Amino acid sequence: MNCREGCGACCIAPSISSPIPGMPNGKPAGERCLHLSAVNLCGLFGKPERPAVCGGFKADVDVCGSSSDEAIRILGWLEQMTAT
Ligand code: SF4
Ligand code: SF4
Repeated sequence: MNCREGCGACCIAPSISSPIPGMPNGKPAGERCLHLSAVNLCGLFGKPERPAVCGGFKADVDVCGSSSDEAIRILGWLEQMTAT
């Protein structure tokens, strides 16, 4: 599937351990990335400072579901399952 424009769930629900500009320790699960705009688009898209992990995340119906809310639920659940 293609990424749902304006979804942004994967920039909110999961934790990100690599540094993000302005968020040197990454971000905790459930917190919006500083660079996620009000319309849920990445402010660093296409820029070299965008973390590699963000570019590596591929939209998949198993993870992204059929709506942003569904993706938040699935990603939140996956986060809990993989938390150490
Ligand atoms: S959760 Fe999936 S559809 Fe939503 S922004 Fe991320 S990759 Fe795109
Ligand atoms: S840098 Fe962009 S793609 Fe990565 S979490 Fe933040 S808003 Fe999302």
